[in-house]
Amino acid sequence: MRYLVVSDIHSNLEALEQVLETAQGLYDRVVCLGDLVGYGPDPNAVVEKVRQISSVVIRGNHDKACCGITNAVDFNPLARLATLWTRQQLNPDHLDYLRQLPEGPGSYDGFKMVHGSVANEDEYVVDLEHAFKDAPENTASVTFFGHTHLQGGFILTPQGAGKVIENAVAPGTGKGRLAIRPDSRYLINPGSVGQPRDRDWRAAFAIYDNHEQCVEYYRTAYDLPKTQEKMLQAGLPAPLISRLELGR
Ligand code: ZN
Repeated sequence: MRYLVVSDIHSNLEALEQVLETAQGLYDRVVCLGDLVGYGPDPNAVVEKVRQISSVVIRGNHDKACCGITNAVDFNPLARLATLWTRQQLNPDHLDYLRQLPEGPGSYDGFKMVHGSVANEDEYVVDLEHAFKDAPENTASVTFFGHTHLQGGFILTPQGAGKVIENAVAPGTGKGRLAIRPDSRYLINPGSVGQPRDRDWRAAFAIYDNHEQCVEYYRTAYDLPKTQEKMLQAGLPAPLISRLELGR
């Protein structure tokens, strides 16, 4: 089975549609690691799309805040503004859908899915030191995570040595491949569809092939000016509009 793994879409419809177009014919099922909404201009259309295409979805911190499970007090002021705007936009059915999304970790077909970390859905896993601290309880060979908006992840070898996955997509290309060894553990971040923060503005995603045992990382250029124009029209904060083209 080939899984299209998407995360951190953040109401960016153009980015999501481009990902689905680029990945067309390359996958059997879609799984989503959360943060469908927040920041971007199209919360309803993105929720609608994810509901249509995705087999398994777990919730992210922005999903929780936008549907009122949490109240965004720990968000920065711009993120909070976008959260309140999103909450007003979402129709009641989509609000209900977001409220019932399960908390990670989700287990699916031999792999795990979390938004933040295995131990805590809101935790940012940004370095090797923290990546495998809960490894003894996490027996899954492959765990997908999001939340940081940084494509790549971490490998733990049988000798206990850790490794950061650098340049998941080789510079100047839109694709990279990682072979999954049965004796190692993997924390894989597909990157963010709708708001990348690794200085590459292109939409990010990954495809996991559990038969071939490999992960393919992708970047794909989408209609960024269209998304930015919609954000401008919606009155969303200017720094949230400009950060998209900087990829941070
Ligand atoms: Zn996010």
